[in-house]
Amino acid sequence: MHTTASDGRLEPAALVDRARDAGLTTIAVTDHDTTQAIDEVSRLAGADQIRVVPGIEVTSVDEGRDMHLLAYFVDHHDAALGEFLARQRERRLDRVRDVAARLSKLGIPVDVEALIARARAKPGTAIGRPWIARALVRAGHASSVAEAFDRWLGQGQPAYVPRIGPSPTDVFATVHAAGGVVSFAHPGVTKRDELLAPLAEAGLDAVEVYHSDHTPEARAWYRAVAGALGLGVSGGSDFHGVGETRAVLGLVHLPPDEFEALEARATRRAAQAGR
Ligand code: AMP
Ligand code: ZN
Repeated sequence: MHTTASDGRLEPAALVDRARDAGLTTIAVTDHDTTQAIDEVSRLAGADQIRVVPGIEVTSVDEGRDMHLLAYFVDHHDAALGEFLARQRERRLDRVRDVAARLSKLGIPVDVEALIARARAKPGTAIGRPWIARALVRAGHASSVAEAFDRWLGQGQPAYVPRIGPSPTDVFATVHAAGGVVSFAHPGVTKRDELLAPLAEAGLDAVEVYHSDHTPEARAWYRAVAGALGLGVSGGSDFHGVGETRAVLGLVHLPPDEFEALEARATRRAAQAGR
């Protein structure tokens, strides 16, 4: 799930309230390129006996295309991981400035410095294109975040700026050293199935089988792929908040046996890293 630490709509307290109301007993916060919300969510959720798995949705880049990699069970206070994520967020600032410059040339001015000031107000906040999309909606340039992506911000659209970022193997090394596992996020959305076998060779731990955007067929397919490649399975709602895409918290569950198997993989990675 995402919070206001990246592009989610809800602050930690509101997120935990919803998780409790939905009857969830174990949750993971996986903000984009930041661990800012994890301690606060853990503290609040602990009062409700909800377990919180530390997570991150890391944006890596492969052949110029974004590849989202989910880290779970990481030591989110690991210093090297913290430096790695800080670099990611610096690149995000550069990128949204470039996106805003392109929009400006298209005759659509966006006050990007106001957005950046909001991100800087709380250390560790990860800005991203959804922030610009929401600003476009507020200014009446798009009727929805989805339309803003379709018309300007999405890959191949006029305000799209290619990203610079770490390779998947860089992400594996950083997350493993921090005692966590890496799962390929929403493969049914990313559509790079040909990469799963080489990534499994290179250190990928799991595939996100359960996801709000996966059809039952996609779920069955990726479960079979994970089994064939000896990978674990992860899953989640990818909740971003009501009114967003992926707006239903608790819609998707990871079955307990698959959760335990993923945790066991993380325990092995942590031992390999000398933790
Ligand atoms: P960024 O982190 O700047 O690359 O923005 C990517 C994020 O924007 C994704 O993780 C989604 O949360 C959101 N996103 C991407 N494409 C769309 C879309 N077509 N409609 C709505 N949200 C999107
Ligand atoms: Zn997001």
